[in-house]
Amino acid sequence: MKLESFNPNTHQKIGEVEKTEPSQVEEIVQKAKQAQSVWSNLKIDERIKILKKAKSILYQNRDDIAKIISEENGKPLFESYSTEIIPTLSLFNYYIKNAKKFLKPHYERIKLPVMIHKKSWIEYVPYGVVGIISPWNYPLLLPMGQIIPALIAGNTVVFKPSEWTPLVGEKIKQIFDEAGLPEYVFNIIHGEAEIGQALVQSSIDKLFFTGSTKVGRLISIAASEKLLPVSLELGGKDPAIVLADADLDRAVYGILWGSLMNAGQTCVSIERVYVDGKIYDAFLSKLVDEIRKLNNYSGNEYYDYSNIKLPKQVDIIKEHIDDALSKGAKIFYGGKIENNFVQPVILVDVNHSMKVMKEETFGPVIPVMKFNTLDEAIELANDSDYGLSASVWTKNIELGKSIAKRILAGSVLINDCISHFGAGEAVIGGIKMSGTGRVHSRSGLMEMVYEKYYNYDTLTWQKKMWWFKYDKKSTEKIKSATDFLFSENLLKRLTSGLKVLPELFKKH
Ligand code: NAD
Repeated sequence: MKLESFNPNTHQKIGEVEKTEPSQVEEIVQKAKQAQSVWSNLKIDERIKILKKAKSILYQNRDDIAKIISEENGKPLFESYSTEIIPTLSLFNYYIKNAKKFLKPHYERIKLPVMIHKKSWIEYVPYGVVGIISPWNYPLLLPMGQIIPALIAGNTVVFKPSEWTPLVGEKIKQIFDEAGLPEYVFNIIHGEAEIGQALVQSSIDKLFFTGSTKVGRLISIAASEKLLPVSLELGGKDPAIVLADADLDRAVYGILWGSLMNAGQTCVSIERVYVDGKIYDAFLSKLVDEIRKLNNYSGNEYYDYSNIKLPKQVDIIKEHIDDALSKGAKIFYGGKIENNFVQPVILVDVNHSMKVMKEETFGPVIPVMKFNTLDEAIELANDSDYGLSASVWTKNIELGKSIAKRILAGSVLINDCISHFGAGEAVIGGIKMSGTGRVHSRSGLMEMVYEKYYNYDTLTWQKKMWWFKYDKKSTEKIKSATDFLFSENLLKRLTSGLKVLPELFKKH
């Protein structure tokens, strides 16, 4: 069976791939398991060498890959470079440079006097086979943000790209094949939900899911049945708070981009804008001036926003706009919808009884709400089931920082939005319905390993005072040990220590 891929702007078929049968998934996972023991036994420098080659192949083929991303996803070519190719190359650089340092065994001295002679350390062990299920909206960056650290850490990977962007998935496979990864270290499976379900049910050792909260919840339930560790990167409803002292032009440019980049189909896109009443009218008027300058796809590669990729998403966008209008909101600009074309829309007179302020819209919709006090703005920003990211716009950085601390989200940017996705050092992830787990940064690498603790005892002849047998004498000794270790009275510690110390040198 074939999986066909379409360009959402031209509606033309641009390619197809062979679907994986659900029954093949476990077989592939088993091959990945066998490959993993060899891959993880390579020195990290050797794994990094192959990853460096993969990075170089991506760079050499950037134009071809950027074009396919644009065609399959719909996004402007500009964004294929700015939000996919460049951030992915920089993630390669980040992990190539830092992974060895982060994965170095960590020595930990035990300070407890009765164990001071023990030597102990922690190693970072790859989970084994990591399953990666990805969405279609950033078909290169999102999976690569997990594949690169998974491989460097010594895992093998079974990757299921979205059924909406299989061709970019194939490009990723080509990159790793050409880089010379040993067979079955990187594996791709193609298909819809049932292939994802088969992956969750297979014997993978850890799962990374990026996608909607609805599917994330189903996956979390299925994974918990078998205690499969999962990392969930889910939806968002990111607020932007614009203070009266903000640089108005900059706030408008930034928020417009944050709302409409990739036609609003971004997990961390700005979906709610709260503006201080003092600048509300000026903000809206500038926002309209700027939004008018943007172009949709019209046949060449230079446009600002695309059609909506998924037909079902157009229905959700429509539903959110209609629901808002029925509850008193007004369209300030735009809102024309034709097939999968959605003209960017600015909504005013919105409130939190409306879906557009509560549920993920995932489209080019900018609801703008006035606030009068900072406390009110923060309360509104936090009145959400989601907690992915947020932004605060002000010239007063100290005030911005204090507001950022009070916002319930996995990340808060001051005078910017979304760009942290492009920095390897930035921790990405959400709270509440936006998910668990973290990607990118040191934390993203640590999600690919478990900590394994070791220690050995240098006093090989010693009989431990806490071993059997318990009697009156040994109970007195353990009481003295408690005083020796924790009494706040120095004299008591000394006298108890004298009773306990001989025990530490007792032979068996
Ligand atoms: P989706 O949840 O519909 O699909 C995501 C992936 O899951 C696809 O590969 C799909 O085939 C697979 N899938 C669907 N049902 C499944 C099931 N029952 N079991 C296993 N796998 C299943 O999401 P989408 O429409 O592709 O992407 C958009 C969503 O992703 C938005 O909600 C967006 O906010 C979210 N997202 C989150 C992040 C983040 O980092 N937090 C990044 C990008 C997108």
